[in-house]
Amino acid sequence: MQGFNKYYPPDYDGEKHKSLNAYRGKHALGDRARKLDQGILITRFELPFNIWCGTCNNHIGMGVRYNAEKKKIGNYYSTPIFSFRCKCHLCDGWFEIQTDPKNTRYIVTSGARQKDEDWDPEENGGFAVHDTEGNAGPSDPLAALEKSTDAQNHQTKVQIPRLESLMDVSDRFNSDPYSLSLKARKHFREDKKIRKEKEKSDTQVKDKYALPSTLTLAEEDEDTIKDAKEQWRKGREEIMLRENKRRRLGSTSSSSRLPGSSSASKATAVDSLRARILGNSGRHPRISGSASNR
Ligand SMILES: [Zn+2]
Repeated sequence: MQGFNKYYPPDYDGEKHKSLNAYRGKHALGDRARKLDQGILITRFELPFNIWCGTCNNHIGMGVRYNAEKKKIGNYYSTPIFSFRCKCHLCDGWFEIQTDPKNTRYIVTSGARQKDEDWDPEENGGFAVHDTEGNAGPSDPLAALEKSTDAQNHQTKVQIPRLESLMDVSDRFNSDPYSLSLKARKHFREDKKIRKEKEKSDTQVKDKYALPSTLTLAEEDEDTIKDAKEQWRKGREEIMLRENKRRRLGSTSSSSRLPGSSSASKATAVDSLRARILGNSGRHPRISGSASNR
C-alpha cells in the first residue's frame, strides 16, 4: 500500500529512499499503475452509449462504469487516441472502446456492438454537423462551366472595379502627404484655439456662479442665446403673475385679517353704520312728514 500518511519509519533515509512511496516500493497511483510498464493505466470508464456485449449478448446501459485499461494507441494530429478495454460484468468477455477525435465521439472497436441511436440531423430535416467529406461540387460539366463563368463575371463586374476604386482613393491620399498633413494640423490648431477660448470662458462662468467644475456648459450660439432669453422671459412673467395674484389676495383679505388695518376697518364699519342710521333717521321725518301731509 502507498504511504498515505506522513509516518516516516525509523529506518527511512531521505537520501537513499527519496520518497515514502519509493521506500515502500509502490507507485503513487498504487494498484492502478500495475500495468504501467505495458503503457496501461487502470481508470474508471463510464459507457458513453448503450451496447450489446459481443460474448454474452446482454444489453449494457449507458453510464455503467468499469475499471478499464486505458492505453494510448495513436494520434489524430496532436490529439492522442485512447483505447479503453473493459471486462463485461455479466460474463468473462472483453470489449474495447476508442476515442475518435476526428468526429469527437467514442467508437466500439471490438467485443461489443453499439446501439445506434445517435441524432442524425439529415434524417430529421437538418444538415450534417460534421461534414468531413467536404462539398463534392456539381458533377455536371455544364453546371461546372456555368459556375466558373459566374465567378469570372463576378470578378470583372464587382471585384475589379471595387479594387480600382480603392486604389484610386489610396492614390489620392498618398500623392501629397505633406500638404494633407499641413492642412490637417492647421485645422486642428484652429479648432484647439477655439476650444481653449471656450474652456477659459466656461471656467470664468463656473467660478462666478460656483458651479461644479465637471459641469459642461452649452455651446453659445444664436439659437441657444435666443432659447435662453425666451426661458428667462417666461420665468419672469410667471414670477410677476404669481406676485400680482399674491398682492390681490393680500388686499382683499387684509381688511379682516391683518392686525395693522383693523382699526381702519373698524372706522369704516362705524362710518357705514352711522350713515345707515342717519339715513334711517332721515327717513323717519320724511315718512312721518308724508304721513302728516296725508
Ligand atoms: Zn458480456
